[in-house]
Amino acid sequence: MSAGTTPVTLPGGCYGLQLQSSGREFNAKPGGTVHVPDEHLSEVQASNAAQNGIISVGLHLSIGTRRGRPCTRHGCNFIAQAWSDECPRCGAPTASKESI
Ligand SMILES: [Zn+2]
Repeated sequence: MSAGTTPVTLPGGCYGLQLQSSGREFNAKPGGTVHVPDEHLSEVQASNAAQNGIISVGLHLSIGTRRGRPCTRHGCNFIAQAWSDECPRCGAPTASKESI
């Protein structure tokens, strides 16, 4: 599995974006959002479209699924969902996001 993705918001009429280096395409509905794997994110951010503000990179990152709340119980190390106060595995309280 890859480390994660970052949402990239496309303008109306734009059906997706294509990476110049690899030719890989990410398709979306016009004006929709594509999820770019982190390993390609820097290229997207450096693109003319991003520099000119045509596409918006990572605007919705704050609610991304990549963040979690680690279990505080020693030896568990389970990463619960960001909205979980309890570890679903052992029931111990999870740490707040700020402490990560
Ligand atoms: Zn746990």
